[in-house]
Amino acid sequence: MSMSSHPIAPAHVQAIAPYQAGKPIEELAREFGLDPARIIKLASNENPLGCSERVREALREAVGDLHGRYPDANGFDLKAVIAARHEVPAQWVTLGNGSNDLLELASLAFLDDGTSAVYAQHAFVVYRLATQARGARHVMVPARDYGHDLEAMAEAIVDDTRLVFIANPNNPTGTHNPADRIEAFLERVRVRHGERVVVLLDEAYDDYLDPAERFDSAQWVRRYPNLIVTRTLSKAYGLAALRVGYALAQTDVTDLLNRVRQPFNVNALAQLAARVALADQDFLRRTYEINRAGREQLSRAFTKLGLEFVPSHANFVLVRVGDAARVNRALLERGVIVRSVDGDGLPEHLRVSVGLPEENDRFVQALTEILVA
Ligand SMILES: *Cc1c(COP(=O)(O)O)cnc(C)c1O
Repeated sequence: MSMSSHPIAPAHVQAIAPYQAGKPIEELAREFGLDPARIIKLASNENPLGCSERVREALREAVGDLHGRYPDANGFDLKAVIAARHEVPAQWVTLGNGSNDLLELASLAFLDDGTSAVYAQHAFVVYRLATQARGARHVMVPARDYGHDLEAMAEAIVDDTRLVFIANPNNPTGTHNPADRIEAFLERVRVRHGERVVVLLDEAYDDYLDPAERFDSAQWVRRYPNLIVTRTLSKAYGLAALRVGYALAQTDVTDLLNRVRQPFNVNALAQLAARVALADQDFLRRTYEINRAGREQLSRAFTKLGLEFVPSHANFVLVRVGDAARVNRALLERGVIVRSVDGDGLPEHLRVSVGLPEENDRFVQALTEILVA
């Protein structure tokens, strides 16, 4: 991707390094002359089961009835489902075109060029992008054991800080901070900074946590007026293609997010699919089980190969392979797409999404060939 800049763009826009998405299967097929049917993609933390059959059925039917009208700008039906699920008022729910949209909305609502946002090293890259796009200062706090160092992040908050981003579990490292530590952080921010700082807790991978690790974070939203919790339908619910996420926050913060939201940011089919997906708990259970088994499968294989990896709480594993650029290239030649994390400051690692058992096997075979050869 070209890094050249255009002189009429502001300096803070020119400074942005574009987001690098996982390589699509068709692109690799074109580049290497491979059969797309033989390529496996374990690069974007998508659900290897696809999406719920009930969602497909609902969409087939909806396409037949498609009309020319705009979607519901207030997402009434979907918000009702989400509000009931988390036992909060529907007025506390904001819908997003993916949860990425909500990260952008938070940056639009709270940041400008006289302010700063705090996030962790090796955290989700969009926190930096959304901050830079507003011309705000971004403050990256060094990671501890690949995870968020919440004490250091609390210390990094200064007078002009308006927003703190926390990913729990984090992407691309898969680390997780237990509920008591998150709560201690929220309390500390409240005591020291009152309502001057907004905390955005990004729970994109919450559904992959062991039941014992899960916490109903809506409880925190009730207690902390400056907290935004975000969730996505892209990962465990398999709706990455449709783009739906949501935020929970009290009324004042939600009101600000809505002022900067495009009125029709979530399309009609996505709203419908999300409602149906949230109701299919059976699909969610299967997703959880297949992910847990696949994560074990990958972890065992890495141990056998003598590779260091970060124990994951999500649907991917960060593994240290040494010369990651070389290994990544050799995997691509074998039709296996994983994710480079060089741009996240991890040049010796690769991030592998958990796939179906046979996909995990093919990845492990390819990796073994490359490393043992
Ligand atoms: C994937 C991801 C998201 C956003 O995904 P959307 O598809 O935009 O909902 C947000 N945060 C983290 C940490 C992610 O990994």
